[in-house]
Amino acid sequence: MFVGHYSASIVAKAVAPNIPFWLLVVAAQFVDIFWALFVLSGLEHVRIDTSLASNHLDLYYMPFTHSIAATLFWALIAFFLVRVLPSIKLGVKECAIVALVVASHWFLDLIVHRPDLEITADLKVGFALWDWPLLSFILEVGLVAGVAYFLSTRSQISVKTARYIWGFAGLLLLIQLSSVFLVTPQTVTELTTSALGMFVGLPILVYVTERLSKLMPA
Ligand SMILES: [Zn+2]
Repeated sequence: MFVGHYSASIVAKAVAPNIPFWLLVVAAQFVDIFWALFVLSGLEHVRIDTSLASNHLDLYYMPFTHSIAATLFWALIAFFLVRVLPSIKLGVKECAIVALVVASHWFLDLIVHRPDLEITADLKVGFALWDWPLLSFILEVGLVAGVAYFLSTRSQISVKTARYIWGFAGLLLLIQLSSVFLVTPQTVTELTTSALGMFVGLPILVYVTERLSKLMPA
């Protein structure tokens, strides 16, 4: 999954408005940040297979980021980090929400990935929606737009917050569209580097926007 992961960030922000949004944006792709770093450092492996229907990634070895055990591990690490880092230090409930957003990554990936998500060494799962490109595109876009629409129409959400949600959702939809029409990276290094750029760049952009606009409580 690509931009659809951020639907979990949007939901979490609505549930716990006092969590900085940039943090929830990091949490949604926390696992994939390490995936990109681990692939670049040779710890995990992926190959590009252009015979695959859409998303040409053959993610054949990623036990440290995309197994169910790793998901639990990274969710606990995230809980611990946002609980103790002096500049963040969230309450227990907020830490649990951040950890849930981290864990949501695996369950959203489960829908689109081909069976490459490890439960045990011998059992890998994935519902393979990537094999139906149009359906997986509709799911990504639908998750973001659906969540943004649902939340922005809630009476307890201010007009400013609703605009912020739609601004973020609009940006995600543009990113998703560009991933269809732009040239896809040809090598694993190109691919992981550009993905890492988005996983890190997006929360920075959100952080700067939050600081500048103060549209959402931080
Ligand atoms: Zn992933």
